[in-house]
Order: sequence, then C-alpha cells, then structure tokens
Amino acid sequence: MAERNTDTQKSLNITYEQLQDLMRTMIGELNRPNPIEARALQAELEKERRRNILAVELGYASEMQRYNQQHSCTHHRDEKSGQSVAKGNGTPTTSGQVLGSGNILLICLRCSTEWIWQPTREELEYVNNASLLGFPPPSIERCLNRDQFITKPPVKPEVSYEPARV
Ligand SMILES: [Zn+2]
Repeated sequence: MAERNTDTQKSLNITYEQLQDLMRTMIGELNRPNPIEARALQAELEKERRRNILAVELGYASEMQRYNQQHSCTHHRDEKSGQSVAKGNGTPTTSGQVLGSGNILLICLRCSTEWIWQPTREELEYVNNASLLGFPPPSIERCLNRDQFITKPPVKPEVSYEPARV
C-alpha cells in the first residue's frame, strides 16, 4: 500500500517528444467517431451514394425518353388514313408560330418535338400567307435549339452498386 502511494507520487520522466506523441494519440482517439457516430456516418454516405446513383439513372432515363420521342415519330402522316408514314411521304404533323424575335417555332403535334430556327424570307412569306400547319420541319443544322436533338441513343452510365465504405 505504501509502495503504491509513492508510485503515484513519482514524477513522470518522459521526453518532450514522447509527450507530444502521447498527446497526438489522445487527440486522435478523441476525434475518432464512436460506434454510433460511425454508423450514422456510414448511413449518411450510403444515402448520398444512392442519391447519386438515382441522379445518374434519372438523367439517363430522361435522355432515353427524349431519344425515343425524337426517333419513334416520323412527324408525318398519310393524308387519307392519318397513319404515321416515313418522312418525305404524306403531310407533316406540325404546327407553330412566328415568335416575337422573328424566328419560327414549329412543333410536332404528335410527339411535341420543337424546332426553332431563323426563317428565310421565302419561308416567312409563305408562313404569313398560309400558316405553319403541316409545315415541313427544317434540318436540325438550321435549328437554334439543335442541342435538344439527340442523334445517337444515350449510353447507359456505369454506376457502382457496391455499398459505400467509410
Ligand atoms: Zn413527331
């Protein structure tokens, strides 16, 4: 018992470097998340990972939908039967309006694809005399909104379904 008392009263003989190491270890221990915090962090990371996967998949799905919309419709119909026919046959299923800017907005009444372009003087004259009902869509190169057209189907993104690790 007496020996123990003297033990605790002994001064600690360590170097400054050793003390620093000890402090560093202690601070490290204090900053380490406890098991409950670690689990909460893991759950949070997992939630964020799922959100990211969902965003990527939704982006792909909406691109695919846009692609299908633009490529499943010919924007033309047979005058008599009303059936969809290949481009170049029948009548365009379009309508539209001249915008305040002088550009034309043409829309397919079947698939809602929009074409916006600056008309030539002839086109504008025709539209002013007739209308945009059944007006043939312009080439995509002429369109001011050509970025909205997708020429190739979107590539399915590669996402990792492995759970996140802390
Ligand atoms: Zn269409």
